[in-house]
Amino acid sequence: MGSPEQISQVEDIRYVHGAMPVNFAYTVGVAGERFFREIMENGRFLGTRCQHCQYTYLPPRLYCERCFASLNDQWVEVSSRGSVEAFTIAHLDLDGQPLAEPQLLALIRLEGADGLLVHRLGGVRAEDVDIGLSVVAVFRPRRQRKGSILDIQHFKPATS
Ligand SMILES: [Zn+2]
Repeated sequence: MGSPEQISQVEDIRYVHGAMPVNFAYTVGVAGERFFREIMENGRFLGTRCQHCQYTYLPPRLYCERCFASLNDQWVEVSSRGSVEAFTIAHLDLDGQPLAEPQLLALIRLEGADGLLVHRLGGVRAEDVDIGLSVVAVFRPRRQRKGSILDIQHFKPATS
């Protein structure tokens, strides 16, 4: 790997053959752990609420980003219903390859929360989505959940 030659034009180097054994391990942190565990085990959303700022973080935070108060013991349940704040239609995957089916992606504000979640919309045609559309989370069956955001299959229009 690498080149013993002096390189004066960086444009001459396009790639180097070889393998780079790089491993990463990310954690979701204490708040993320509890957030995802609650989704996996109970199909519920937990946020944290700052009583001083009257602001409910979802996803949860362990401290208030506005006043820096500790929110370690300020957990609150947040509804699995919410509304679409913004949406788009994805035609390409993360690698830039065409998707077999375009996907509807939305910013969703759950009732009782001030933060937003990004997730898929399902059970609705693109032409029927509007800002403010009421939606509800569709969780995967309990035995299929793995403690990730994909334990939520998608959000679908809520029937009131
Ligand atoms: Zn605060």
